[in-house]
Amino acid sequence: MSIVVEHLSHIYLEGTPMAKVALRDVNLIIEDGEFVGLIGHTGSGKSTLVQHLNGLLMPTSGKVYVDGVDLTDKHTSLRAIRQKVGMVFQYPEHQLFGETVYEDVAFGPRNAGLGEQEVEARVKEALGMVGLDYDALKDHSPFELSGGQKRRVAIAGVLAMRPAVLILDEPTAGLDPEGSADILGKIQALHRAGRVTVIMITHSMEDVARMATRLIVMEHGGVVFDGPPREVFAQVDRLKEMGLGVPQVTELMHELHSRGLPVQTNILTLDEAEAELVRALELRRNGTV
Ligand code: ADP
Repeated sequence: MSIVVEHLSHIYLEGTPMAKVALRDVNLIIEDGEFVGLIGHTGSGKSTLVQHLNGLLMPTSGKVYVDGVDLTDKHTSLRAIRQKVGMVFQYPEHQLFGETVYEDVAFGPRNAGLGEQEVEARVKEALGMVGLDYDALKDHSPFELSGGQKRRVAIAGVLAMRPAVLILDEPTAGLDPEGSADILGKIQALHRAGRVTVIMITHSMEDVARMATRLIVMEHGGVVFDGPPREVFAQVDRLKEMGLGVPQVTELMHELHSRGLPVQTNILTLDEAEAELVRALELRRNGTV
């Protein structure tokens, strides 16, 4: 299932003195199975863009197609689209409302008209996907849970619809390092198992370097870079200019390189850095360089 964005522009409050161009001529094709990291300074248009992918916002001009279906066509069922393209907003736990964890996660499937047996199967499956124990937690109030658990329940509510595409807007915002690592681990496992295409907005360059297969960088409502993380992070100077960074380990390798150590700079993870340092130090020890 692909998502195609063609010449998409969005102007908030068009025709008023407060009009604000939030997207300008964005063109993208997102294919099945990708893990897209969406980065950019606050206000660059990331949230506005993703809200077009399931019809929460409509283009001022341009088109969005999901699985070949034109979202701007007034005959398109946006309800069906939203089942295929699931959206996890920032701080999704603020939208929990069910009396129990079960009721909360069951809301979407029930609303879609599924029978109770299927609803139960979906709730079990979705809680399992986010690493929560169904039997232990189903009857608890979501409000009794820890911050990280609440967020997982909220994500499970989206997964219970079995979306083909999962969009997450800063899924680890406000969580401690352990809670963040847990959530990201679950998202990565879902992606690796081939269950979802992922589009993740984040400010963590480390996270996208490790997880994303593709990085889209936005600035002033437009896409400035779109490619594999290794290629995008090679644009260190431009990214810094935009107020973004590169992973710390990439930055370190650039620093060592500029001080004369013969290391490659296109390094994204600690493991890669370790191997590269060993290689460079061997070269130096052997007197090759
Ligand atoms: P990001 O997600 O990258 O922080 P947004 O998509 O939220 O960026 O915002 C893009 C631009 O649109 C910003 O200038 C922001 O102020 C503006 N904007 C966002 N939402 C609204 C809105 N509901 N009404 C008016 N302007 C908005």
